[in-house]
Amino acid sequence: MSVLPWHTGTLAELLQRHRDGRLPHALLLAGPAGIGRRRFAEALAAALLCLEPAADGTSCGRCPACRLREAGTHPDLLHLGPEDSQVIRIDQIRDLIGQLALSRHQAAWRVVILDPADALNIAAANALLKTLEEPPPRTLMILLAMRPARLPATIRSRCQLLRMPLPSPQEAVAWLQTQGVEAPEAALQLAGGAPLIARELDADLLRRHAELFRQWVALAAGEGDPVKLAGEWIKPEAEWPIQWMQQWLGDMIRLRHGGPPRMADLSGALQPLAEAIDLQRLHRLLDRIDEARRLLASQVNAQTLVEGLLIHWSNLPRRTA
Ligand SMILES: [Zn+2]
Repeated sequence: MSVLPWHTGTLAELLQRHRDGRLPHALLLAGPAGIGRRRFAEALAAALLCLEPAADGTSCGRCPACRLREAGTHPDLLHLGPEDSQVIRIDQIRDLIGQLALSRHQAAWRVVILDPADALNIAAANALLKTLEEPPPRTLMILLAMRPARLPATIRSRCQLLRMPLPSPQEAVAWLQTQGVEAPEAALQLAGGAPLIARELDADLLRRHAELFRQWVALAAGEGDPVKLAGEWIKPEAEWPIQWMQQWLGDMIRLRHGGPPRMADLSGALQPLAEAIDLQRLHRLLDRIDEARRLLASQVNAQTLVEGLLIHWSNLPRRTA
């Protein structure tokens, strides 16, 4: 089982440590969505479970263990995630501890993949501590988290943190081309640099982004009605528009600091907008957008949120050139 190209080095390193008998009990894979963390965890698990691994330590794909794993029925590969709610509950952890107390089914390793670890509630996290500290022999716990800072410190301190950043744009674009994505640069920028998200974007979404950006720039020039626009923007959903505003603002701030923008194609339009606004005000609006993204997840009225942001944006004091 292979990982995405930007993860091959990291996997090779871990497998070398595995061969040297230096693999930690628990790994915390942290990084943004859409970069292949899950696939990485599965490939690492596959390598550990395989009975006849290749010379580089990766799984063979043919042995009985690999076949069981591919069928989703390997008894020594355990997946844990939220079931009917948003959280991983304490009884799920108790079940896991019970299963780990039994002996392994096959001679190799046992792997537990906990995804997302951010979903552990407090009681479940506490119940897991002892297992993380003293897991049964030849057992690897892999925890996946988008925001490891949200995990209790007691959990984090018992895991070895493996940060998985966004791949470089060059690597990501090269891979998107192999996936048949038509406009890989534009899709990648729109996805905030996450290649797996970029692969799913379609041409309609790219067009919608271009149109909203044009309207947003026009608002800064006093054209357009923010309330009316908000009504249009939230159809069919408000998530993308809010994320885009976050990216545009982030790029404006980067441009002000002389850094490279994420959405290079837009920098020509963003630069003069950024120069005309006080930097602190840009930061304040970005904070407000971050907050709006969080609120959106909790079913707050999308029209009110987007309207508030667009009014704020259109009313910002601007220096005229
Ligand atoms: Zn195998």
